[in-house]
Amino acid sequence: MKTSSRMLPLVDWLRPREAAMARLLEQFVRAESPSFDKAAVDHFGRIVAAEWRRRGARVTLVRQRESGDHVRAEWNPRGNRARGQVLVLGHLDTVYRLGTLAGMPFRVSRGRAYGPGAFDMKGGLVIALFAVDTLTATGRLPQKRIVFLWTSDEEIGSGTSRAVIEREARRSDAVLVLEPAAGLDGRVKTGRKGVGEIEIVAKGRAAHAGLNPEDGINAIEEIALQVARISRWNQPSRGITVNAGLVEGGTRTNVIPESARVLVDVRAVRASDMRVLERKFRALRPILRGAKLQIRGGFNRPPMERKSSVALYAKARALAEEMGLSLDEAYVGGGSDGNFTAALGVPTLDGLGAVGEGAHGPNENIVIRALPERAALVASLLASI
Ligand SMILES: [Zn+2]
Repeated sequence: MKTSSRMLPLVDWLRPREAAMARLLEQFVRAESPSFDKAAVDHFGRIVAAEWRRRGARVTLVRQRESGDHVRAEWNPRGNRARGQVLVLGHLDTVYRLGTLAGMPFRVSRGRAYGPGAFDMKGGLVIALFAVDTLTATGRLPQKRIVFLWTSDEEIGSGTSRAVIEREARRSDAVLVLEPAAGLDGRVKTGRKGVGEIEIVAKGRAAHAGLNPEDGINAIEEIALQVARISRWNQPSRGITVNAGLVEGGTRTNVIPESARVLVDVRAVRASDMRVLERKFRALRPILRGAKLQIRGGFNRPPMERKSSVALYAKARALAEEMGLSLDEAYVGGGSDGNFTAALGVPTLDGLGAVGEGAHGPNENIVIRALPERAALVASLLASI
């Protein structure tokens, strides 16, 4: 008896396509797309859009003035018989400045593919395309309309994409996020901390450090005292971190500095802790007599709490098991666009993208052999939600 491709398990259809997946990844990595370079992100977005059009998706660009355009690809093989929507999320942008490729070229070595953005998250974009290919080839068409949303500014806080993401999420029954997996065993992410950035600006009074120091109010000293105070708010066992990550201030050593500032990264596991922390920052008062403080910013990504991932994770685990793969979960401190969708109460599973290591660093790479398995996992989720 002949086996038609319609009877092939998804992963068996994908395995012979591993090299094709790596070639598409190479094409994607070579189109550099730093968040702050609109022209470069748009160029890469057009390459991605063309791949989706080739697969019969209806592609629209969500135009942006400053950042790159977001790419929305709607794949709806059942037309108006579709029942509901699934949102698949990812981003086009990378943290690498234009020209990084020259010193960090795309290369394949010992089963890994290296290059800027290969892991975070161009590998995920490749996985999505091949997931659709295998579903089409094997005739396992999803019941729901699938919207793939590839945004341009995830690495810089999703300022222009957040509203677009939330609008699509509200009309979706589930959200799959193709951000990198955790660890080389490919764990999916079922929880993420809430993330924020707070700026504390101190204003003092300038004076000559030698002639009339008593007239000065040292803004750097004020900031130093505040940093010592907020650092005590760290509670690692509760998942609360407060990190003063950048300080600026002063002009010359013989001048008592008039102004200084610190940027603080804040993270929390619980939404309630997030609110308490924000209130504590707002309540900060100057320590030095005569100094003034301004507090700006706050949490920009709410926590992704595990309860929003539990059901999808159980389903993914069962599907992986059918393919002879094991799948575990991870809780991570980093935020993603999945934080937004989970906070709306829409079931969200994150970390479904590439398996690899070294995100945002010079050795960023993915495990090529895992590409077909990940695409099969995403495809089987799309077919069964
Ligand atoms: Zn990412």
